[in-house]
Amino acid sequence: MKTICVYCGSRSGNDPDFGKAASLLGSGMARRNMGLVYGGASIGLMGTIAEAVLEGGGQVTGVIPRNLFRNEVIHPGMTQQVMVDGMHQRKEKMADLADGFIAMPGGFGTFEELFEAITWNQLEIQDKPIGILNVNGYYDSLNAFIEQAIDQGFIQPRHRSLYRVDPDPENLLDSLERQCAD
Ligand code: AMP
Repeated sequence: MKTICVYCGSRSGNDPDFGKAASLLGSGMARRNMGLVYGGASIGLMGTIAEAVLEGGGQVTGVIPRNLFRNEVIHPGMTQQVMVDGMHQRKEKMADLADGFIAMPGGFGTFEELFEAITWNQLEIQDKPIGILNVNGYYDSLNAFIEQAIDQGFIQPRHRSLYRVDPDPENLLDSLERQCAD
């Protein structure tokens, strides 16, 4: 597994453990020679993980829509910037460049990206490992909602296997690597 696309908050959230987890994930990726693909920002958890990968000597690729985000938000230290025309093209490009996906805590942008990746696996448009980094139970209520959707017959029980959930960055990376090797 050479490249992981990380979806995460453009804010840091209220729990300092979110930032710590972003740093641990980034340093773990760099140690394993896994490059980061992400939204290219220097703010929030996005900035924290990019810094951690760069500090660990890893490669960081930001996929950035032209004219959408203000220039000061764009991370100046990235290894590579890929400019695209809009948000749809951006998500497609991020997915193309990645061998797998991890969602960290975040807001609507993160949820939307995570669900798109899961949906593409479900539709067999792609077959790439997806992990949810469940820092301090941030995604517990989302998991409960997904269980409700399974109970109500909208999601097939076998589709639970479309993604992995783990609170620990190293365990999650191990699990995605194993899945990639299978
Ligand atoms: P959110 O979770 O709503 O903060 O959105 C974060 C996700 O949406 C990230 O994974 C990015 O891909 C994208 N995104 C949202 N805001 C920005 C921004 N200012 N710069 C770059 N990407 C962003």
